Amino acid sequence: MPERIVIVGAGQAGYQVAASLRQEGFDGSITLIGDEPFLPYQRPPLSKAYLMGKADEDSLPIRPEAFYEANRVEVVRAERAISINRQARKLETASGKFFAYDRLALATGSRARVLPIEGAGLDGVLSLRNLDDAHRLKEVLEGAGTLTVIGGGFIGLEVAASAKVLGKAVTVIEALPRLMGRAVAPATSAFFEEFHKSLGNTVLTSTGVARIGGNGRVSHVELADGRRIEADAVVIGVGAAVNMELAADAGLACGNGIAVDEFTFTCDPLIVAAGDCTEHPNRFAGGRFRLESVQNAIDQGRIAAKSLTGQRVPYDSVPWFWSDQADVKLQMAGLPVGADAYVVRGEPASKRFSVFHFAGDRVVCVDSMNRPADHMLARRLIEAGISPTRDQAGDESFDLKPLMPRHR
Ligand SMILES: Cc1cc2nc3c(=O)[nH]c(=O)nc-3n(C[C@H](O)[C@H](O)[C@H](O)COP(=O)(O)OP(=O)(O)OC[C@H]3O[C@@H](n4cnc5c(N)ncnc54)[C@H](O)[C@@H]3O)c2cc1C
Repeated sequence: MPERIVIVGAGQAGYQVAASLRQEGFDGSITLIGDEPFLPYQRPPLSKAYLMGKADEDSLPIRPEAFYEANRVEVVRAERAISINRQARKLETASGKFFAYDRLALATGSRARVLPIEGAGLDGVLSLRNLDDAHRLKEVLEGAGTLTVIGGGFIGLEVAASAKVLGKAVTVIEALPRLMGRAVAPATSAFFEEFHKSLGNTVLTSTGVARIGGNGRVSHVELADGRRIEADAVVIGVGAAVNMELAADAGLACGNGIAVDEFTFTCDPLIVAAGDCTEHPNRFAGGRFRLESVQNAIDQGRIAAKSLTGQRVPYDSVPWFWSDQADVKLQMAGLPVGADAYVVRGEPASKRFSVFHFAGDRVVCVDSMNRPADHMLARRLIEAGISPTRDQAGDESFDLKPLMPRHR
C-alpha cells in the first residue's frame, strides 16, 4: 500500500478521488492541491442557478470544510502544480513548494477555449469556467442591458437562458448550422433554437464573428457579413481546452487528453488521471474518448481510487449529461457517435420529448427534454446494449420498459 497520495486539481474528479480513497480504506496521507482559492465546488450551477441568483456561493462546495478534516484530506488551495519529477516522485508548485508522493492522481480538468479574435481582451468580454469567472459575469450583467453570447453550445445556451431570466436582451451567435451541433440530434438542435427564440432571444446560426468592438470596454460585435450587434457584455463559449501540459511536460503520453487505460493508469504505473483531462478507452464511443461531464469526473474518480488501492476494476460507465435552459432540462444518455438516423418520441411542441440516435439498428444516444423517465431507461438500455426498433422508439404507445431483461 502507498503511504502518500497527492492529487492535483481540486475539482469534481480530484474531490472524488480523495473521498473514494477513504471509502476504499486507504489510511495514508491524502493531499489535494488546487490552483483555485476555494474548496472543490460544483461548476454546473455557475451558468444556471448561481448566475440567476437562485443559489448562493455557500451552496456550491461539494462538501464542507469539516468533511476534509474528518477524512484527513489536506486541501492545499491557490497552489499551482508546475512540474512533476517522476524519478524523485515529487511535485513542485508555482510558489516553490515540493510535495513528495508514492502515488499521484492528476485531475486537472479543462479550461475555456480562447477565441483568437480582435477585441477578445476588451472589458466586458468574458468566458465562464470557474467561480471567479462567474463572479465577474454576475457583476458585468448587473450593469448590462444587452448580452451577446458567442457559441451556441451547452454553456453559451445556459448563460443565454439565465440572462434572459435576468431581463437581458440576448443574442446567440453560432458558427455552425445548428445549436449544440456536435452533441445532440438535429431535432434537439431545432427545438432549442425555437425555444430560445420563444424566450425572446435572438439566435443566429451559420454566422461568423469578425471582431468584437469597443473603446476599452465592449460596445458591439461585428459579424463576418458586416452586421453589427450592440452588446454591453459578451460571453465567449466556444468549448474547452484540456489541461494536460503538466502531464505532457513530465513525459506522460497524451493524445486529446492525458492518455489513461481502463483502470485510469497513465503510462507511469504510479500516476493515475481522472475527469475532463483524460483520454480513455470508452466502449460507448467505440474507442478512445475525452468526456467533459460530472458523470465522468465522479465515476472515473471512483475507479482511480480503486486502482490506487490495488484493485482492478475497469471504468465502464454509460456516459450521461444534462443541461438546464430556463424551464427545459435536457438529459443525454450514451454518446452520439456513428449515428445515422434519429427517431423522435413525443411531441416537441409539448416541451416533453426524446430523440433516439440510431447507428444502424443500435441506439447509441438518447436526448430527453423534460422526460427524466426516458433518460433513466435510456441509460439502462444503452448500458445493456439493448435497442428498441425505430418503430418502437417512435411509438409512444409502445412501452419500452419491458425491453430490459428483468421485465422479460
Ligand atoms: C459553467 C459550467 C457548467 C457546466 N454544466 C454541466 C452540466 O450541466 N452537466 C455536466 O455533466 N457537466 C457540466 N459541466 C462540466 C463539468 O463541470 C466538468 O465536466 C467537471 O467539473 C469536470 O471535473 P474535473 O474535476 O475533471 O475538472 P474541473 O472541475 O475543471 O477541476 C479541475 C481543477 O484543477 C485545477 N487545476 C488545473 N491545473 C492545475 C494545476 N497545475 N495545479 C493545481 N490545480 C490545477 C483547475 O483550476 C480546477 O479547479 C459544466 C462546466 C461549466 C464550466
